Amino acid sequence: MNRKKIAILGSTGSIGTQALEVIKAHKALFQATVLTAGSNADLLIAQALEFRPGTVVIADENKYQQVANVLVPLGIKVHAGSKALIEVVGQPDVDLVLASLVGFAGLEPTLAAIEAGKDIGLANKETLVVAGELVMEAVRRHGVKLLPVDSEHSAIFQCLVGEDNNPVEKIYLTASGGPFLKKDHSFLAGVRPQDALKHPNWVMGQKITIDSASLMNKGLEVIEAKWLFGLDVAQIDVVVHPQSVVHSLVQFQDGSIKAQLGVPDMKLPIQYAFSYPNRAANHFKRFNFADYRSLSFEEPDLKTFRNLALAYEAIAKGGNLPCVLNAANEIAVAAFLNSEISFTGMSDVIAETMVKAPYLEVPTIQDFSQSDAESRQIARQLVTNQQKVYQI
Ligand code: NAD
Ligand code: MG
Repeated sequence: MNRKKIAILGSTGSIGTQALEVIKAHKALFQATVLTAGSNADLLIAQALEFRPGTVVIADENKYQQVANVLVPLGIKVHAGSKALIEVVGQPDVDLVLASLVGFAGLEPTLAAIEAGKDIGLANKETLVVAGELVMEAVRRHGVKLLPVDSEHSAIFQCLVGEDNNPVEKIYLTASGGPFLKKDHSFLAGVRPQDALKHPNWVMGQKITIDSASLMNKGLEVIEAKWLFGLDVAQIDVVVHPQSVVHSLVQFQDGSIKAQLGVPDMKLPIQYAFSYPNRAANHFKRFNFADYRSLSFEEPDLKTFRNLALAYEAIAKGGNLPCVLNAANEIAVAAFLNSEISFTGMSDVIAETMVKAPYLEVPTIQDFSQSDAESRQIARQLVTNQQKVYQI
């Protein structure tokens, strides 16, 4: 039995736990050999007891002893600290690395996995947002597969199967529109974190849920799609589709459009990344037309949902600007969740950081780390300034 050996970076998160469900549903095909978590030691231990990986990593070093006490006696190797992520992805007992940790933190281990010659299942879109050109170059140089897990990108990827010689005219990324679809600026200014955390169709980690409500998620996905599929931004359109059934569409040179559809369930794109190019039979929920009497499509409102316009602006200028956008967004989302700034205040922090951070046209990987750190500092200062106004 030659099972695919999978390392899950971020196994305790929304994507990570669903990936383990996929592995559990296909024990003959897949095996979890490495599990890693940020700080949720209890869940990491429970997962390791069930899936028996050879190695686990807990990024939070204070939790090392707790994890080691339970798992080392069972012969499981336990590492701590974020540097350990970079080492474990290259282990010989890994065929594919699922990059499902959140934010800029995903870049370094994902690049390390590519450089170690491992195939990648990419959920961590921030990796391509920050350093898409460098990452795609590394993918080509090392001859690895970069398999999208983001549902829209998995949809495009699936539509492109068998179309190697047919250039793409354009792609349409679908967006649910989130919980505040059709709301105006003054409504958005007053929303609270608990309102924004209620996504109509998907249950996800906190950061991407806020990004979905602000449409930043779609902005990040436009940038992700540009690099994944080698397109000009002008070839990438966003269409709001509140039912989240059409996961995205590709239009070819003859005007024909292919779409990929299914129930909104991340287990499907995760499984496809694991089983590609095959499709594995499963018992996951099936689509039922009776549940979806009509599917609707409309244009996004870039004026009210300014983050999407900011993302288009960042990728149009390129260089380190998408990295700046991403860093400022991570700070803004954390500040909003912490009730330090308003929902619309997030766009102000991001826009101002993009003006204030030094621009680099051709950044190196070290430049990205520095630019990320600098932009976070600028954004934090802007949060502090806004906080004073917000709390008066
Ligand atoms: P999440 O917050 O639920 O999980 C994140 C995981 O990463 C957790 O296991 C956490 O412990 C770990 N982690 C966080 N910070 C870390 C750090 N600094 N070092 C090491 N580990 C760390 O997030 P999620 O919703 O699963 O999203 C993960 C990624 O997948 C994001 O990039 C997101 O945009 C993308 N994505 C998610 C979904 C979804 O449905 N959740 C869909 C598409 C794409
Ligand atoms: Mg998506």
